[in-house]
This record gives sequence, structure tokens and C-alpha cells, in this order.
Amino acid sequence: MKKITVSQPYLDSAETEAVNAALRGGELSGNFGSFIGEFERKFADYCGCPHAVTVSNGTTALHLPLAALGVKQGDEVLVSTLTNMATFFAVLYQGAVPVPVDIEPDTLNMDPALLEALVTPRTRAILVVHLFGHPVDMDPVLAVARKHNLLVLEDCAEAHGALYKGRKVGSLSDAGCFSFYANKIITTGEGGMVTCADAALAAKMRSLKALAFGDTLKFMHKDLGYNYRLTNLQAAIGCAQAGKIDEVIAHKRRIAAYYTSKLSALPELQLPVEKPYARSVFWMYHIVLKGKTVEQRAAAMKFMAGKGIEVREGFIPYNLQEIFIARGLTQKDACPVANSVAYNSFYLPSGPVLSEEDMDYVVASLKEALAQR
Ligand SMILES: *Cc1c(COP(=O)(O)O)cnc(C)c1O
Repeated sequence: MKKITVSQPYLDSAETEAVNAALRGGELSGNFGSFIGEFERKFADYCGCPHAVTVSNGTTALHLPLAALGVKQGDEVLVSTLTNMATFFAVLYQGAVPVPVDIEPDTLNMDPALLEALVTPRTRAILVVHLFGHPVDMDPVLAVARKHNLLVLEDCAEAHGALYKGRKVGSLSDAGCFSFYANKIITTGEGGMVTCADAALAAKMRSLKALAFGDTLKFMHKDLGYNYRLTNLQAAIGCAQAGKIDEVIAHKRRIAAYYTSKLSALPELQLPVEKPYARSVFWMYHIVLKGKTVEQRAAAMKFMAGKGIEVREGFIPYNLQEIFIARGLTQKDACPVANSVAYNSFYLPSGPVLSEEDMDYVVASLKEALAQR
């Protein structure tokens, strides 16, 4: 039987050679090694951003700028409700209060029209998520932020290289937060990066991510630090991967266009969109089974699995997370649009090496799965 995984890293001998060079040089740690600086420079240049700081993963990439910018207990942060919960965890690590913002029905990104009504005297920041590789409509977000003097951060974990009105995500706000987990656009196994324009913020993040050692007396620490370092071995992989971002995006766009051409005639599906202001990187091809129940989705996913096709459930929004409802932080009905896609979506295999034959098999299997009962 065929086996089609939901994703796979895009590797060749370049990664092996770079890691071996780091190993041979004995430069393994996150404190020294030439690959760390090289990866940061390459990534900053790619994003059109003056600074980029490597970190250990996408979750620490979200937490580090919040800590460095002084987002603190009692501050409110407006966050797109439909996301990987790491986005919310990062805010909670600071003792701040995340406020979920509902989504646009088509892009599934934060709906900027809802922001103004959610701003209070305690609001400090807006944290947008470029979900599944489609950039958020940033201009109205930035307008609200300017009006109320709020910080803006971008969760770019799924959107490396995506463009908003021709500009790269990660360069549109106070800080861009990237992940290099194994299924992201590029990977270092585990890893992350924060991009920013402000040199002082970059310096503060470099200090905090490495235990905030002192300048004259090393062990007289400057602050409550963290160890959020990426290793030089991972940075070596990152240097090889950084040259492939556009190649991976080209594959993702090819895959999305092909799936859409084969699925757009099915009225029971809601497919990914691309707005006029956006160039999406279509990280994963996420579909909504309109009007289906969680049981019907489970049946469809099981049918696909039986065909050797790995599919993955869509995210469950913050406002439906039982742990946070129990703590009184949010309510089930806070975000009705997100709730309407919470239990009836999944994404199709979207790895960069998928062939048309693979996708034809996925599409045929999906049609069979939907025709059940
Ligand atoms: C993957 C992801 C994260 C977390 O990144 P890790 O590297 O797994 O910590 C955060 N936000 C979004 C939107 C993600 O997709």
C-alpha cells in the first residue's frame, strides 16, 4: 500500500556536510560556532529585517520578545484564537492575560475589525498569527496598534517567506517569531528565530536567551535569564536550509494550486484562499468539511489512514481549551467563527516532494471518504 506522510523535511547532502563541518571543528554548543551568526545573517537578509536572533524553538521565539519588551503580569495581549497553543502559552509564561480574537471566515486569520472593541486600558500588545502560511491583513492591525500605542508581534512559525503587500512577514511589526520544527517551511529539527528592526531589542534578546551573563563580571547576571540557545549543529543545518526557502515555497504553491484545481468543484469543502494583498506560502493544505460533525471528520480521517494517507486535525481555538476555561480565562462562545471550524477541519499531505500522482491518489481517496454514508 502507498504511504503518504503529511510532511517531510527537504534535505540533501548540504545539511550533512554542514553538520559534519561543525562536528569536525568541535563547535557544537549554542555559545560559539560560526554557523550561528551565519544563519542569523542569512535569515535576517531573507526577511528584509536588520536583526535576527536564533533560539531553541518556535515557542521560545514567541516568549523571548515578550520578555524582552517587558510584557508583564496584568497586561492584556490580543491573540488570534485559532493557532498552535504555543502562541498563547508564551503570553501566559509572562503572567500576562491573553485575550482571544476571533477569525475571518476565509483566511482563518485574526479579524482586524474586531480589535478596536477588545482594547482596554490594560492592553499592551497584539500578537497575530500568519496561519497556514497566509499573511494577516496587517494594515488595519497596525492602525489600531498606532492609535492605542500597542506593541505588535507576528507568529511566523508557518509562514517563512510569505508576503504582505510585497513585504516579508517578520519585518512588519516589532518582532517576528519563527519555528524550525521538522514540519515547518525550513527545519533544524528543533529551532527558532526572532527577527526585529530595533538594535536595542535584539541586544536585549541576545542577553536574555543566554542566561543574561554580566559584562565585566560574567557571573554577576544582568537579569533573570533563560537558556533559549540554538546549538551550532542546528545552525549548521539552518544555513543549508536557508538557501532552500524559496524552493520549498515554490513546491508548496505548486501543491496548493494542484489540490485546489482538483477540489474546487466540491461544494462540501472550504479550501484555502489567497487574498489580493497576500502571497501565501501554503504551509499546509487545510480544508474545512462544511457542516460535518467531529464524528464524521473522524470517520473521514480514519478512511484516509486506511488508504495509507496521513492527515492531521486542524487547531482547536484557545476559547475551547478546557484547561483555560476551567481557570476562568476564556469562554466557549467567545469566538463563534473559530468554533465553526474547530472540529470539522484537517490538512492534507503537503510535503514538498509530493508528486501529481500522489496528489491524485489523495484527492481520489478524499472523494471516497466524503461519499461514505
Ligand atoms: C509550530 C508552531 C509554533 C511552535 O513552534 P515550536 O518550534 O514547535 O515550539 C507556534 N506557533 C505556530 C503557529 C506554530 O505552527
